[in-house]
Amino acid sequence: MAPVLKVHELCKAFGAACVLNGLSFHMRQGEVISLVGSSGSGKSTALRCINFLETPSSGEIELMGDAVSAIQNERRETKIVNSANIKVFRRRIGMVFQNFNLWPHRTVLENVTEALIYVLRKRKREAEEVALFELSKVGMAELKHRYPSQLSGGQQQRVAIARVLAMRPKLMLFDEPTSALDPELVGEVLKVIKTLACDGATILLVTHEIRFAREVSNRMIFLHKGIVEQDAVPEELFRNPASEAVNRFLSSVISTAA
Ligand code: ADP
Ligand code: MG
Repeated sequence: MAPVLKVHELCKAFGAACVLNGLSFHMRQGEVISLVGSSGSGKSTALRCINFLETPSSGEIELMGDAVSAIQNERRETKIVNSANIKVFRRRIGMVFQNFNLWPHRTVLENVTEALIYVLRKRKREAEEVALFELSKVGMAELKHRYPSQLSGGQQQRVAIARVLAMRPKLMLFDEPTSALDPELVGEVLKVIKTLACDGATILLVTHEIRFAREVSNRMIFLHKGIVEQDAVPEELFRNPASEAVNRFLSSVISTAA
């Protein structure tokens, strides 16, 4: 089967600082990949480049056979080729952020129906049906009339996940979905992500929850200095770290998690 996502030689510089230096990896349908690495290693930038929230300096992203390339000339100016596909990418990719990003003045239900009505042009009744279906998957249907400020962080994140699911994405990106949560609320969000993984969703997950990553991922990609340092099944990464950097990272996260 052809990969769902191909990231090829992705580079991103902010001014003189090169954050991504030729990042390449593939994802198949139904695969769960955790992107790990120390803080500042470019994980968020990689996710943001994949759905073009950030414009790559150079490289190519291919999603289900459609590609967008960034080509740099000798003056380091970037030209985007096939930019019309960016819109297609955004329709197919759902992203869950660390800070939930719910609309504060909309109820739970309205947060989920918003894009269904205004982007997918669904009628309100149909949008609400879809929204309630997804909200019940994450255990939030009963609180549909609440506002985000009336919810815990864990509940807000579950609504944010339902909002993404309602758009039926082909690929889900999670950027540290539990790192803004109080420790006792982390589990409820991880449980939802695990259910999605078991149901066959294709998930690219950035997380510090290393035990969870190990348990839920088909592969783990360790990012270091803006490139893939190791791309392996979890057991292999833990048993046989490819470099001192991987080793150091694993030791530090395991000792803090203990
Ligand atoms: P991670 O998610 O792995 O912690 P990031 O992708 O957020 O890392 O950031 C990688 C590096 O890029 C950091 O040094 C960060 O300061 C820098 N960076 C990220 N976004 C920007 C930006 N918009 N402008 C300038 N520098 C940025
Ligand atoms: Mg980050």
